[in-house]
Amino acid sequence: MEYRSTGGLRGRRLSLQVDDAVRAKTYGAHRVCAVDGCETRLSAYNPSTICALHSGGWRDELKRPTRKQRPREEMTRYCSYEPCGREFVTSNPAKKYCSDACRMKAFQARAVAARQAELGHSLAGARRAS
Ligand SMILES: [Zn+2]
Ligand SMILES: [Zn+2]
Repeated sequence: MEYRSTGGLRGRRLSLQVDDAVRAKTYGAHRVCAVDGCETRLSAYNPSTICALHSGGWRDELKRPTRKQRPREEMTRYCSYEPCGREFVTSNPAKKYCSDACRMKAFQARAVAARQAELGHSLAGARRAS
């Protein structure tokens, strides 16, 4: 019984720390390495709770998100929704439309075109059959 309650508490406290760190983006300027006996200062931008010397391998889960957060290069693209074609700047290479509105319109246009193509096919089929 006792063992279960302390275990649960410890787990909860750990996940809270991680949540707070992610939300704040910086991780506090006056922390030291969590490894016993190590007093290495941690950078405010280090998402880990341990220094670089002690973070080899076993904390890969904490290191991975920082790699993704690296700022991406911005690029100028043209809206893929043809009636718009507006120039826009994005750092997301997968972004094809200048706005959500254009993305939705393009999606609807594609759905309509698909439906028309389908109708055309069934009409042609019906004509052939009769
Ligand atoms: Zn350390
Ligand atoms: Zn657009």
